Amino acid sequence: MIIKGNQHLEKTFVIEIKGLVQGVGFRPFIYRLAKSYNLYGWVENRNDGVAIKINCRATILDQFIASIKQNAPPASSIVSICFKSTDAENFTDFQIIKSRSISGKITDISPDMAVCDDCLYDLKIQKNRIDYPFINCTNCGPRFSIIRELPYDRKKTTMNDFEMCRDCEREYNDIDDRRFHAQPIACSACGPQYSLFYKNEIINDTEKIISALVKLIQNKKIIAIKGLGGFFLACNAVSEKSVSRLRKMKLREGKPFAVMFADIDAVKEYAFVDEIEEASLLSWKRPIVLLSQKKSLAPSVSNGLNTIGALLPYMPIHHLFFEKSDIHCIVMTSGNISDEPVIIDNKIASEKLSIIADAVLTYNREIYNRTDDSVVMVVNKKERILRRSRGYVPVPVNLTINAGDILATGAELVNCFCIGKDNQAIISQHIGDLKNIETYEFYCHTIEHFKKLFNFNPSLIVSDLHPDYLSTKYATETELKHVKVQHHHAHIASCMAEYNLDEKVIGVCFDGTGYGEDNCMWGSEFLICDLEESIRINHFDYIAMPGGDKATDEPWRMALAYLYNIYGYRFRELNLPFLANINPSSVYIICQAIDKKINSPLTSGAGRLFDAVAALINLCPYSKYHAEAPMRLESVIDKKIKTSYPFTFSSTISFNETIKNIIRDLKNTVPLPEISAKFHNTIISVIAVVVKETREKHNLNKVVLSGGTFQNKYILENIENLLLKNNFKVFSHQKVPTNDGGIALGQLAIAAKKRFISN
Ligand SMILES: [Zn+2]
Ligand SMILES: [Zn+2]
Repeated sequence: MIIKGNQHLEKTFVIEIKGLVQGVGFRPFIYRLAKSYNLYGWVENRNDGVAIKINCRATILDQFIASIKQNAPPASSIVSICFKSTDAENFTDFQIIKSRSISGKITDISPDMAVCDDCLYDLKIQKNRIDYPFINCTNCGPRFSIIRELPYDRKKTTMNDFEMCRDCEREYNDIDDRRFHAQPIACSACGPQYSLFYKNEIINDTEKIISALVKLIQNKKIIAIKGLGGFFLACNAVSEKSVSRLRKMKLREGKPFAVMFADIDAVKEYAFVDEIEEASLLSWKRPIVLLSQKKSLAPSVSNGLNTIGALLPYMPIHHLFFEKSDIHCIVMTSGNISDEPVIIDNKIASEKLSIIADAVLTYNREIYNRTDDSVVMVVNKKERILRRSRGYVPVPVNLTINAGDILATGAELVNCFCIGKDNQAIISQHIGDLKNIETYEFYCHTIEHFKKLFNFNPSLIVSDLHPDYLSTKYATETELKHVKVQHHHAHIASCMAEYNLDEKVIGVCFDGTGYGEDNCMWGSEFLICDLEESIRINHFDYIAMPGGDKATDEPWRMALAYLYNIYGYRFRELNLPFLANINPSSVYIICQAIDKKINSPLTSGAGRLFDAVAALINLCPYSKYHAEAPMRLESVIDKKIKTSYPFTFSSTISFNETIKNIIRDLKNTVPLPEISAKFHNTIISVIAVVVKETREKHNLNKVVLSGGTFQNKYILENIENLLLKNNFKVFSHQKVPTNDGGIALGQLAIAAKKRFISN
């Protein structure tokens, strides 16, 4: 036994670390750190984190803990570190001890991680991994997408099909190796392999695959490529011929495509990138980051919007491709047909995607959990998630209330569901629009996956109030105790849960639509609410939505509804250009339908007002994809314009004066960017005025912003700054989408709170 100096000053401490600390190389990291401090003791995985027992002096303990925080593995995320002294014990070395208390209760699973720099380096020099496109280590590689069940162990992943070779096994068992216990460890001798299907040929050699890919992309071909969580369709992003063909083949008429750039310099050539955006692009999560466009790619990529959805390579194959190619940007859009979920199966890909793609690149490891690319934007120096999937899922949100055994079924569009495990809310990956039958199947499967994966057995289910949402029907069919939560209350609660707020706040929830307590379609709600209840204190005037859902595809219907409401039939005398292309008999029928209340539900949705304005100025009378009209309207804003339009408000908010003034500006040929800016500034003023009045009346100072409208960067940025200037405390989404993808978290938080109170 080695006797260390100063041993009489040493005490025995237990350190407990909670957060995402399993499956991310945390124990080997602690082992190496303890060795470097010459400390004796052990580290182990526990149900709820990692525990360390060591002998050391108090001053060294402080340094040791500081080093843990500072140097923790990139994919780990420490929620808390606590320590206490304990009965003295003697150790003769430092060990990773076998976990004694592992059960199905462990919930933290690492998301998939982008290939790390060390592995990219090894790709050049390690004999068995030269250009091996499935290289990974404890700091990188697939995780969530390949895991079938817990505990996280190779056998429980889709890597089980591959037997480790002796070299890999040696590294796997060597504590000093970077790949110690890296479950997906693989090399060219033993791991997964790519195959490229082109015409009637199959190419299996990596070098040949890469050079074929480079040639195909150069020759304007479309390629289906299997990614970490599903297939993608790729083509040259500067070739209009390739991109427009892809758009046509994919039946994706308008929606912008994401673009993968070779490196950060290539991104900066085409887009403006600030330091926070750069950090997001470069993070191991590798999301798509929405950036302002600097230089145009092929016009069909962004289709008239002034933004680029950019991302950087995250799989070794992406790096190998860009290294060998002089093309610096490729379209990388999800490999699906229209609105179906992204394809994950090799056979289905070769059937369905080979119709669109000239070549299909697959590999022989199964994807178990489907994930899409995540999408973020940066507003006021903070990253905001808009689509939460690869790289972010299934990291939990920590709640103050116990939400155990609650299943929140989410909304219908851009659905995510959420499960409660004790104080953790685990939100599913982005599922999509449930009205699509394949997507609904994906939803049901994923709920089953989550039950198994997280040993989750719901005893309480919570859904939206909307009787026709498939997520509500799912909840009803389970016959579990069922709580229903109003859509906009759930939105605000979702943001509150992110910040652990559990008190009365002023909630401002703007979105397209959500079922209201009066059976109308809400969507511009000023609420006073906490996690238990919600009171609607103000909203936009109701307006008819002629044709119901059809009005969301045809924004001109909303413009017409506003005009008819203000002017009656006299609106025809205005000779507005947007009406020139619309059949006068359709116009007449719609006015009749509004009068007779035929298929014209009432709405207060902010999104519908944005639709109306975008159509009124003839910018977007027809919408080819969800929220196109508001996105186009935002895209043309002239940011130099600080003026706004008048509006009136008492118990509700009326935009009649706004619309009249927009028409006046149109007549005076005021440029559209100026009209758009003035309209956006009006919405910002409305929020500020109503919120100020509410503060005075109700003595509340915390404002929570949620709903799809806050995906509008201009509005979120400016309203946040304006409210902060007026000494409000402002909360807006970061970790969870502000759109309906965040609803499930709010539902879960409300159900947990209600259960807590009733117990
Ligand atoms: Zn690595
Ligand atoms: Zn191997």
